Amino acid sequence: MKSKVIRDRFLKFFKDKNHSIIQSSNLIPVDDPTVLLTTAGVQQIMPFFSGLKEPPSKRLVSCQKCFRTTDIDNVGLTPKHLTFFEMLGNFSVGDYFKKKAIYWAWEFLTEELKIDSNKLWVTVFEGDEEISADDEAIAMWKEVGVSPDKIYKFGKADNFWGPPGEKGPCGPCSEIHFDRGEQYGCQKDKCGPNCEQCDRFIEVWNLVFTQYNFNGKKYDLLPQKNIDTGMGLERLIAIMQNVESVFDTDLYNEIIKEIERLSNKKFGISSDLDRSFRITADHLKGATFLISDGVFPSNEGRGYVLRRIIRRAITNGKSLGIYDEFITSVSDVVINTMKTIYPELKKNREYILDILETEEKKFSNTLKQGIGILEDNIKHLKKEKKSVIPGEVAFKLYDTYGFPIDLTKDIAKKHNLNIDLKAFSTYLEQQKQRARSVRGFLIETKKL
Ligand SMILES: [Zn+2]
Repeated sequence: MKSKVIRDRFLKFFKDKNHSIIQSSNLIPVDDPTVLLTTAGVQQIMPFFSGLKEPPSKRLVSCQKCFRTTDIDNVGLTPKHLTFFEMLGNFSVGDYFKKKAIYWAWEFLTEELKIDSNKLWVTVFEGDEEISADDEAIAMWKEVGVSPDKIYKFGKADNFWGPPGEKGPCGPCSEIHFDRGEQYGCQKDKCGPNCEQCDRFIEVWNLVFTQYNFNGKKYDLLPQKNIDTGMGLERLIAIMQNVESVFDTDLYNEIIKEIERLSNKKFGISSDLDRSFRITADHLKGATFLISDGVFPSNEGRGYVLRRIIRRAITNGKSLGIYDEFITSVSDVVINTMKTIYPELKKNREYILDILETEEKKFSNTLKQGIGILEDNIKHLKKEKKSVIPGEVAFKLYDTYGFPIDLTKDIAKKHNLNIDLKAFSTYLEQQKQRARSVRGFLIETKKL
């Protein structure tokens, strides 16, 4: 089943249940300067939930463009993490609640898409001293046919949403996980949904039941309860197409093929190279969409996120052996793959490619400067018969010249040198703490 069919089927399934289809909003959040980028479908629904705006209908469904900066470092390491992704979601603004949300999610996966129900596990909120366990959800999952041993309970960190600030609406959530099979498991007794040791279980769909208002002291039941759900389209497609990772789906096939052509290397042979393939593919897809939605490369905020992923894509391209300028040809494939769903890409094509070309030229010059500095340092170290590159040097290259530590490691290795990684990590941690104090970043890392 092609990605286009799966996306369409989701929208149609809920349209047939009287939901209005709403278009994806921009990756730059509209009317909300406190949030860096759009990270979930619910963002544009929030004003309807809070009563600030009148919804076109009490039942809504969307496929939303999302970008999560919090996952930049996870991309490439796992089969499921992406920065840019599409999120499918259905919403109820004070209309239906938990029962319909659970029944319809189950019906869509097991009847509409015919996913084997034995492979689906669910998680529910276990309750704490202030809020009771979500026994309603447990009973409903049993009613649709989930066996009790496949219902896992978790605390607030995993199965409770909100409030977005100190006070406000919040509630338990319930997730559906897909079991890829024991062969992907860590074989430990505790292995199950949310296992941190392996990638056997993939979180597919999160159903949020906004039923409480937290007034700063206690949780009261809301008179108007809302439903907000989110399902990663790419993960769902990987399951439907029965492939190893999101990068093996038809959404990425052409992009990966282009990187194979440029690098003259094959995807799926070595885990080191695959990591660079995945990062290059993900980041250039993300960059293409960010530029199209109006983000411009710079040294702060959204512009910095964009610059960072473009630079990571370029250096990972170098790790694959692509030494010429290449990012516009990958971006062009992204535009061609996605333009029927997102026509703005076609409209903005020239502009997107222009920005990428300029940014790549600029970065090539910076890289040359950085390599010069590193080589001077190496000469100096060799003269003094030292074998360790100071962490300060590696960090300066990382911070000022956009050198990923892996690139510095590669060069060091060629000269039989090591890097003081401990000192490097200390500098990095200090920088992260500085970044955390930036409000925009802080808010964006909250779970939406
Ligand atoms: Zn496990």
